[in-house]
Amino acid sequence: PPPPAALLRVENLSKRFGGLQAVDNVSFELAAGQMLALIGPNGAGKSTTFNLLNGQIAPDQGHIRLANIDLAGLSPREIGRQGVGRTFQTAAVFGSFSVLENIQIALLARDRRLFSFWRKAQGYRTDEAMDLLAQVGMQDSAGRLCGVLAYGDIKRVELAIALAGRPRLLLMDEPAAGMTAPERHALMALVRRLADERDMAILFTEHSLDVVFAHANSIVVLAQGRIIAAGTPGEIRTHEGVRSAYLGSTRV
Ligand code: ADP
Ligand code: MG
Repeated sequence: PPPPAALLRVENLSKRFGGLQAVDNVSFELAAGQMLALIGPNGAGKSTTFNLLNGQIAPDQGHIRLANIDLAGLSPREIGRQGVGRTFQTAAVFGSFSVLENIQIALLARDRRLFSFWRKAQGYRTDEAMDLLAQVGMQDSAGRLCGVLAYGDIKRVELAIALAGRPRLLLMDEPAAGMTAPERHALMALVRRLADERDMAILFTEHSLDVVFAHANSIVVLAQGRIIAAGTPGEIRTHEGVRSAYLGSTRV
């Protein structure tokens, strides 16, 4: 069968900060249901690429096509409305609200009923919120305060919050940062299952190459803003240029 049509097409994306070319003519594609890992040494331009994709910053040049729409230069809110979700590197939950209420707040935001959410959240779309919690294995913690959760559990709640927006593409910049190796694998296995079930595309960064090789369908390797390699985990694992780019870098 022919390869699936790309959901996301990034074309010649570039961003400069003063004299630094942080992202340099980057192009790649990602199909629905697939997981693409963006890897590279510290400072390679991974987070800048994410920030361009979610509209935090505007590109100097290039296109970001989601299906037929060019997202380049749109605001984060507009990009979110087009079906691009994201998770945050630092905890983005309300610690003094329950797990369930955090999901209900996300559903209120999705439904554009954010106004006075702190009063409205209770009882809002409880069935849907519980279903989202079940999808990330957190249904038994629905009544607990987010502030008392273990770090790995907060990451699961954040994932459910992102899913509340029904993303077609989910951007995850270091979703497993601060987790142990088994926790990283468990989180990415969960993301893999959600990508399959929802036909959702995932773009993620991750420092552990073990985790990347185990869960990504394809990998794009950045160094100093440029793509130095792209391919399947099998291709990247044996790529000489990737090995040398990582030499001397403890953080990849
Ligand atoms: P990575 O996520 O791969 O570690 P980043 O995208 O965060 O890399 O950074 C790429 C380069 O761009 C780094 O040299 C970083 O210092 C620089 N950079 C990132 N954001 C800014 C900014 N807002 N202003 C100036 N320089 C930045
Ligand atoms: Mg980064």
